[in-house]
Amino acid sequence: MGNCFSSKHEIPINSPSSKSPPLPTHPQQQQQPQNPKPHQNSIPTQKPVFFPTPTQKPTSSSQYTTILEKPLSDVTSFYDLDRELGRGQFGITYLCTEKATGLKYACKSISKRKLINKNDIEDVKREIMILQHLTGQPNIVEFKGAYEDRKNVHLVMELCSGGELFDRITAKGSYSEKAAATIFRQIVNVVHVCHFMGVMHRDLKPENFLLMSKDEDSPLKATDFGLSVFIEEGKVYQSIVGSAYYVAPEVLRRNYGKEMDVWSAGVILYILLSGVPPFWAETEKGIFDAILEGSIDFKSSPWPSISNSAKDLIKKMLTQDPKKRITAAQVLEHLWMREDGIASDKPIDSAVLIRMRQFRAMNKLKKLALKVIAENLSEEEIKGLKQMFNNMDTDKSGTITYEELKTGLSRLGSKLTEAEVKQLMDAADVDKSGSIDYIEFISATMHRHRLEKEENLFKAFQFFDKDGSGFITRDELRQAMTEYGMGDDATINEVINDVDTDNDGRINYDEFVAMMTRGTQDPRETKGKTIELL
Ligand code: ADP
Ligand code: MG
Repeated sequence: MGNCFSSKHEIPINSPSSKSPPLPTHPQQQQQPQNPKPHQNSIPTQKPVFFPTPTQKPTSSSQYTTILEKPLSDVTSFYDLDRELGRGQFGITYLCTEKATGLKYACKSISKRKLINKNDIEDVKREIMILQHLTGQPNIVEFKGAYEDRKNVHLVMELCSGGELFDRITAKGSYSEKAAATIFRQIVNVVHVCHFMGVMHRDLKPENFLLMSKDEDSPLKATDFGLSVFIEEGKVYQSIVGSAYYVAPEVLRRNYGKEMDVWSAGVILYILLSGVPPFWAETEKGIFDAILEGSIDFKSSPWPSISNSAKDLIKKMLTQDPKKRITAAQVLEHLWMREDGIASDKPIDSAVLIRMRQFRAMNKLKKLALKVIAENLSEEEIKGLKQMFNNMDTDKSGTITYEELKTGLSRLGSKLTEAEVKQLMDAADVDKSGSIDYIEFISATMHRHRLEKEENLFKAFQFFDKDGSGFITRDELRQAMTEYGMGDDATINEVINDVDTDNDGRINYDEFVAMMTRGTQDPRETKGKTIELL
């Protein structure tokens, strides 16, 4: 959760950890971190002329004065809330059971009484948005849904019953290189996924990773995105955020970008291998001075017995100049990450790439329908993707060219061949203009659960069914597809034959829904669960 003075978790810089050894504690001094506000977008949001009646979404803030800007709902009608699992500054996390399935989840309940000013509310909204944007990726907690009643906002997510990584480290002291590499790979995966998805985490530390189970080799999950923000290319971030030991020198100098996360991860690696933080002093000022000086102790025990490649990786991550620092994608490829026998994970495909590939495989009607849906999503629903679009559209022309897509994806860490980029480009460029416009980008990359929402499907159907007869006729299809330069007879026949299961030459709503929901479930994204809201 957002900013943060009293809890050990989102604490920014000054609060002492409530945990003690092996990390030394330090005196507390309040220093207010200012969370930058979510930024303006520079996306053209004008609706294209072809869309007949832009429908007013029931999410406009004038209608509801709620945090989530949707009608209140009662979480207890879907879940039984059980014992407390943990607390943070705003929230209490409970164990809960889904009534319909008996499955266990974690429910973080945030008291609305504690959300005093607009910033607090923005922080909660941004946390939910980022969690939802990142969910479905490896090592990131799965988001299940958000509910709001009169007193609380409830976030239901996957249960991590193994406790915090911090507690594991303190119980264990330090890890073998092999065990450290296994843990560390998952931490770097999180950094890489965040950066790929256009998010800067800003608060990487062992407390913010939970273990899925009590097993020795339990996977790790990042759960707390309270200080995370969508990255704006070119923006100079100035607010001091993070926790003292983990904070990067450029953050202290108030001019930083996403490289700061790599530094924090480097500090975590140093701790995993030695049990103590690399920059340490009795006072907070002392810690900051040590960070700015940046000399790393590789002389004390146990460093002499640690491999050179581990030290090499730490040096590359704890490089003072953020421009010269190794990137998250490069860390995953570093020799040390491969040495424990597990083949180097090639940088994981982002959900965005997976979605673009799925989009490529869709028939033309479906692509067009997705475009209609994309045009009707609210600002809030697509904030993360909008940010990614902005980041890729480097010349701010409102369209992504082949070159921009190629450099954008590689900057985000993906390794695609020219041919693959070309294929993605062709797939997303529905109107064959030679570049990807904003709506095309959203269509190709939005989370597929959007299209399974009844209201979205219905709106898309209505768009095609111009005369409201309940059927999409050949003529109506021709009309809609012609607007997109794909109205040749062969294509139209192909689409109708593909979708028209009762062979009456037209498409009814059931056929349309069946076509839209067919084969879009990516097990890596949804694991059979539905994600509600936003
Ligand atoms: P806050 O943002 O209010 O600090 P956190 O997200 O850090 O809240 O959660 C507070 C505590 O609740 C965590 O330290 C952890 O103990 C527990 N917790 C949070 N999420 C989960 C989860 N998915 N599964 C199990 N416990 C959780
Ligand atoms: Mg927290």
